[in-house]
Amino acid sequence: MQVPETFDYERVATVEEALQRLSHHGDEARLIAGGHSLLPMMKLRLALPEVLIDINDVPGLDHVRVVAGGEGGGGGEDEIAIGALVRHAAILTDPILGEHWPIFADAERKIADPLVRNRGTIGGSVCQADPAEDLSAVITALRGSVVVQSADGRRTVPIREFHTGPWETVVGDGEMVVEVRVPIRTSVGSAYEKVERRVGDWAVAAAGTFLRMDGNTIAEAGIGLAAVGATHMTCPEAEESLVGGPADADAFATAAGIVSAAVDPTADQRGPVDYKRHLAGELTRRALARSADRARDDSLREDA
Ligand SMILES: Cc1cc2nc3c(=O)[nH]c(=O)nc-3n(C[C@H](O)[C@H](O)[C@H](O)COP(=O)(O)OP(=O)(O)OC[C@H]3O[C@@H](n4cnc5c(N)ncnc54)[C@H](O)[C@@H]3O)c2cc1C
Repeated sequence: MQVPETFDYERVATVEEALQRLSHHGDEARLIAGGHSLLPMMKLRLALPEVLIDINDVPGLDHVRVVAGGEGGGGGEDEIAIGALVRHAAILTDPILGEHWPIFADAERKIADPLVRNRGTIGGSVCQADPAEDLSAVITALRGSVVVQSADGRRTVPIREFHTGPWETVVGDGEMVVEVRVPIRTSVGSAYEKVERRVGDWAVAAAGTFLRMDGNTIAEAGIGLAAVGATHMTCPEAEESLVGGPADADAFATAAGIVSAAVDPTADQRGPVDYKRHLAGELTRRALARSADRARDDSLREDA
């Protein structure tokens, strides 16, 4: 039986109270949201917090809403704001995310099982900073950002600068994540492809992509990669290879080849390096092809 070390437990009612308790306890405390990453680590004694601060009662962290350009400091474009306590299950069925970014539902269908999806949160997912974590790859593909709050106010960190290494983020003492933001684009398509050993398992490899089209030309491309040792979970060279050209099989094969060469997976029980390298490219190729199909549908809807 796996049993965690003894710990104290506090339940807070506001973001301000959570921040106050974090500052008070310092290094000894950890926030708990869904608990589906933290509790397993505590049972394995890989995490030994002395105090857990439960944020599940905190209001105002479970929204998915469109925010107008510039509102809340996220930049000049319209964005979707996703509260830190939004659960995987809510992301799977959310109509706003479904309309703009089907990549979220693609990924959520493959994350764990309904029990985990009913509790696990987007805030916990990005803060866990597991290199195999699917939502982080999705947000990376979309060039989203993370809103971090402290007693001094809020700061917005691009997701590609948020993770500083495996299981490490820029979130400092006395800070917490309150929101994730993704931009809204038109004439776009997005998709997520994942290979797992069995249903509900972590990825052997996964790739998420989006394409923004200007007529028949790719105007913008985003790639997010999970479980394959990609720096900042992406591959800028592959993204750049796509921009300015047509969305066709040759372009996708070129980008896939660049991804395969750039990733740095490790061999483990999920597979050898060569297999994961191959998967990273192949899943990127498939995600790009589906993104292109969806971008065409998006353009047709806009024209109708
Ligand atoms: C059996 C199983 C299978 C899984 N399979 C997958 C999978 O296939 N793909 C996948 O991506 N994930 C998978 N997961 C992980 C799951 O998605 C987790 O729910 C998620 O990674 C963490 O979310 P959480 O809310 O449970 O976080 P918690 O466990 O509560 O917290 C995780 C970490 O984030 C910190 N934290 C939480 N919220 C905040 C906040 N707002 N601000 C600052 N720090 C915060 C905590 O202190 C902790 O360090 C699986 C989990 C299990 C148990």
